Amino acid sequence: MEQELISNKRIAIIGAGPAGCICAKFLKDFGLEVFIFEKDKPLKTLLPTGGGKCNLAHAEFDFKQLAKNYPRGEKFLYSVFSRFCTGDTIEFFDSIGVESYIREDNRIFPVSNSSKDVREKFLKSLKGVNFIRGKCISIMSNGNSYVIKTDKSTYLFDIVVVASGGVKENSFKNLEINIVEPTQSLVGLVTEKNFVQLAGVSLRGVMCDGLKGDILFTHKGISGPLIYTLSSIYARRKFPYDLSLKLVEDIDLQTLLNENSNKEIKNLIGQIVPKSFANFLLEDIGLAAETPCHKINGAIRNKISEALSNFVITVTGKSPEGEIVTCGGVDLDEINSKTMESKKYKNLYFCGEVIDVDGFCGGFNLQNCWSTGFVAANGIIQSLTI
Ligand SMILES: Cc1cc2nc3c(=O)[nH]c(=O)nc-3n(C[C@H](O)[C@H](O)[C@H](O)COP(=O)(O)OP(=O)(O)OC[C@H]3O[C@@H](n4cnc5c(N)ncnc54)[C@H](O)[C@@H]3O)c2cc1C
Repeated sequence: MEQELISNKRIAIIGAGPAGCICAKFLKDFGLEVFIFEKDKPLKTLLPTGGGKCNLAHAEFDFKQLAKNYPRGEKFLYSVFSRFCTGDTIEFFDSIGVESYIREDNRIFPVSNSSKDVREKFLKSLKGVNFIRGKCISIMSNGNSYVIKTDKSTYLFDIVVVASGGVKENSFKNLEINIVEPTQSLVGLVTEKNFVQLAGVSLRGVMCDGLKGDILFTHKGISGPLIYTLSSIYARRKFPYDLSLKLVEDIDLQTLLNENSNKEIKNLIGQIVPKSFANFLLEDIGLAAETPCHKINGAIRNKISEALSNFVITVTGKSPEGEIVTCGGVDLDEINSKTMESKKYKNLYFCGEVIDVDGFCGGFNLQNCWSTGFVAANGIIQSLTI
């Protein structure tokens, strides 16, 4: 980025979330004047990330492998991640005084384990950027520049970066930008069956559709890491749909029952899954929990075996808990992945969650913000330099 600047155009960024702020930082460091419009507090959306610890990124340093963690956007991200990947994220945060570490599960966190600390240091690094408090109501193109209307005033800019996060109500509806219908991803799921008596109970190492992870029963249904991933993969599936869960690795139930013939069934199953879930399962099957194993006939044995290996849950909806990212947004066909510039509108850029990219839990969604934010800044710089 060491070219000579030929002009100093007016640049606006809509949204001071992670994507807008990293874009502003690179533009400012290049000597450009930047204005960020924010309807709330800057970088407030960083605070709840990683349960307050801020899962900044994921320790996958190969850009193609990294892109595999995005059910929407994988191919588009090849070009983006080849320009700014995990190593660059670590370096960027180092440069603003946020040292990071890699956890056992490969998630990257700040050494402080505090999103508040990350936010403070990030904001400090943005000294010189102009923050304008206000809600952007509309962005309109008048050929050579953009008219930005906020709830307080009207402004004229040469270059606009839209970084306003998941599209619910979008401020660029006056522009002909195709939006892929937004829906929620990385959420809990509402189930037909009532698991309220199990709320808080978790099952470890559950398998479903080639994935393995933990699930947690909630007042409304199911949640936990495996469910978040499934909610992401099936973000657009119509309700109701069934999930077939394999609760335990292959076990020889017949042998177990024979070897424990005098044991009450609830105690035997309670060794395999949590006791409260064992009781629930037996009640579901219609078998008294105190039944000694030798009194259980073949048909009931098959039912227990089936329940453990193919526990079917009917999903009826989404429950707003978890990371809650938006699946959908600005259609990727609208954007040049080398610059994040709109293909239809010159000097209009997009970055972060506003675009139709979303990843799994584990730092992937913030990585999308850091990478697309950088690429947008770099695209602007390239367009202004010779
Ligand atoms: C509870 C929770 C935990 C999460 N944890 C993680 C995690 O640990 N790791 C991870 O990778 N991802 C995590 N995510 C996802 C991650 O936070 C988002 O993907 C990321 O914040 C998106 O950044 P963004 O800048 O694109 O949009 P946002 O963070 O949504 O920021 C957009 C900004 O624009 C402002 N804005 C919107 N519209 C307007 C307007 N019209 N005018 C002016 N301002 C406007 C908003 O107020 C906001 O400040 C989590 C999400 C949630 C909800």
